[in-house]
Amino acid sequence: MIHSDTKVPEGYRSLASPVYRGSTTLFPDAASVDDSWDQHEAGYTYGLYGTPTTLELAGRICELEKGYRTIVTAGGQGAIALINLALLKSGDHMLIPESVYTPNRKLAFHVLRRLGVESSSYPPEIAGGIKELLRENTRLVWCESPGSITMEVQDVPAIAEAAHAHGDGTLVAMDNTWSAGIYFDAFAHGVDLTMQALTKYVGGHSDLLLGSVTVKDKALHQQLGLTHQLLGCAAAPDDCSLALRGMKTMAVRLKHIEGSSLRIAQWLAGRAEIERVLQPALESSPGHEFWKRDFTGSAGVFSIVFKPQATKAEVLRFVDELELFEIGYSWGGVTSLAVAYDFHGSKTRSDYGHRIVRLNIGLEDTEDLIEDLERGLACM
Ligand SMILES: *Cc1c(COP(=O)(O)O)cnc(C)c1O
Repeated sequence: MIHSDTKVPEGYRSLASPVYRGSTTLFPDAASVDDSWDQHEAGYTYGLYGTPTTLELAGRICELEKGYRTIVTAGGQGAIALINLALLKSGDHMLIPESVYTPNRKLAFHVLRRLGVESSSYPPEIAGGIKELLRENTRLVWCESPGSITMEVQDVPAIAEAAHAHGDGTLVAMDNTWSAGIYFDAFAHGVDLTMQALTKYVGGHSDLLLGSVTVKDKALHQQLGLTHQLLGCAAAPDDCSLALRGMKTMAVRLKHIEGSSLRIAQWLAGRAEIERVLQPALESSPGHEFWKRDFTGSAGVFSIVFKPQATKAEVLRFVDELELFEIGYSWGGVTSLAVAYDFHGSKTRSDYGHRIVRLNIGLEDTEDLIEDLERGLACM
């Protein structure tokens, strides 16, 4: 009952990628035992560094992002943490945009600060002006474009150029989740390494948590891989197989979502209740010119800002009245979502106060979604 010698039967082929689970990986003989984490070099050694299912997913993300190699992590935030813990040491300084995904900022100011890493926030529109903020010990500059919730598209090439001109070893990391690694070619725009929450468009069905880190060269892969081994947070092969399945339909999902989102964003822009639609493909959106220059498409996550007379109660009422739009964190799945934010008291966010709502456009019929929004606005 214990010893298995299961093999894929001769002649059996399936269209699905098999799920290879495994902690122990067997060696052919005693002398071959090896705990090297770099299975691209050493062959399979241990489940923590990935089974064939994990590495297949890593390979596909790497191909999409045109990087050197990809490491799959157990969540998007895990990918952010891996980058920071692999690249920073006590005494280093890091720059993060004010519009960065909030847990990224919290990791910097709560955990990394405790470990002696100093961080400062910069306005996402800074472009080449980041030069003035670079210090002698600045080791890492984060970009996230567009930024979470407030949606500023950054001049990433200008930031990368300034960071690299600054001196040896200042690296640029990019949260490339919004573009799904597709709409923005980060490495062609000067970025050194990217991460994505595969939880979003790659998974695509709100049923898994995974992340990826993709690097531009071998040296970075060695640095990241070693830290990944020692942090010991492995991605589950079952989740990786769901992500591989998600990738098969990503092109059609993204295409539908792009068209639907643009139509909805334009409809919202014409409404009297709304001051501004923060959708990078619209001229009203901050950094639209950089989106136009650097991106090849737009995703289905964007925000709306109500006019100043909207009270907080009215904004919450709008969200509560929506029926097709559910309320919840994360995005990139088939279900449309709405979340109201309140930036009162925040030093690092544009002055949208309680008037900002982020929408995730899913796969429901576009006209049904517009009808839902119209009713929400009327109730509000
Ligand atoms: C969701 C998200 C993350 C974190 O991903 P998880 O898989 O939920 O940990 C990171 N960055 C951005 C921009 C995100 O939207």
